[in-house]
Amino acid sequence: MIKDYNINPKDLNVYIGPHNRSCCYEVSEELIEKFKEVDIYKNININQGRYLDLEKCIFYSIGFNRSEKRKYKYN
Ligand SMILES: [Zn+2]
Repeated sequence: MIKDYNINPKDLNVYIGPHNRSCCYEVSEELIEKFKEVDIYKNININQGRYLDLEKCIFYSIGFNRSEKRKYKYN
């Protein structure tokens, strides 16, 4: 998103609705494989076994990682 729209992250407010994290539930291996086929998730660890971390997927899909999340959270 930052690259596609040439946006400065400091100008963004990001709100994320309810979502499941890896502590919430198990999914099928087939579903995890579908996520791993998506380019932006290919080189990151989005699951622990059959526990899929949608929070991590969301943050990577909008262009920053968890360490950056904290950085921007209080801006
Ligand atoms: Zn949970």
